[in-house]
Amino acid sequence: MHRFENAKVLLTGGGSGIGRAAALRLAAEGATVFSVDVDHSGLPETERIRLHQADVSDETEISAAVRAAAAELDGLDVVVNVAGIHRTTPIAELTVADLRRLYDVNLIGTALCCREALPHLPDGRGVIVNVSSSSATHGNPYMTAYSASKAAVLGFSLSLAAEVIGRGVRVVVVSPGTVATPLVGEDVLVGLDISYYRRIRSPMGVAEPDQIAATIAFAASADAGYLTGAEIRVDGGSHI
Ligand code: NAP
Repeated sequence: MHRFENAKVLLTGGGSGIGRAAALRLAAEGATVFSVDVDHSGLPETERIRLHQADVSDETEISAAVRAAAAELDGLDVVVNVAGIHRTTPIAELTVADLRRLYDVNLIGTALCCREALPHLPDGRGVIVNVSSSSATHGNPYMTAYSASKAAVLGFSLSLAAEVIGRGVRVVVVSPGTVATPLVGEDVLVGLDISYYRRIRSPMGVAEPDQIAATIAFAASADAGYLTGAEIRVDGGSHI
């Protein structure tokens, strides 16, 4: 498929996991992808994939990154917000610093990128795809702060879709279940019974990043032209 021939894509979190897979998928379908991440060691620069180091939660850095993307690509067609962090904490140990960091990266990073990129998106065909999580709508022990930050991404995106629908700009949320990436490594999911988590929360098994990237590509493509203000859960049946 070549659904993104000549498309200009700004993507965050391209250095690893789902973002890396989405950058490669979109580039393979013809897009030029400007990836923003704190660490790009997992993604090589190519003619179709440009790398820019920035922290999405830093207002100055993400504003400069969006300006650089629009200048280098001569505009933007698609924005994909994938960058995110995870942390598990029992409620008794939850700190304000934990809550703030999860909100800073997951919600505020997404919101700032959308705010800065929207003026560059074309009326009638601009698209934003924001990555939330099945944890936004499904409780998991020790994930209060992470789930809240991802529910915030969902709520933010639905209201943004309502705000920009008059311009013909679409906003779609992709919510993965459990995906095999460093984000859900045993060093991150501290205290969780991972076998329970994988068995109950992933009845089809843990997803590969490519499977989520395929859904992101669909949501960003003209194939999804009637899709906005919608959440696509790609969770292998975790809500059954
Ligand atoms: P990942 O492999 O850790 O990739 C996330 C990328 O975002 C990393 O390259 C990371 O850099 C980068 N990043 C983190 N904080 C950043 C910041 N402040 N500014 C710029 N880049 C930053 O994780 P993933 O599993 O692919 O997760 C991608 C998204 O999917 C996240 O939003 C996550 O919440 C969501 N998600 C994942 C799963 C899952 O099971 N994996 C399930 C549901 C939702 P570092 O590696 O240097 O931190």
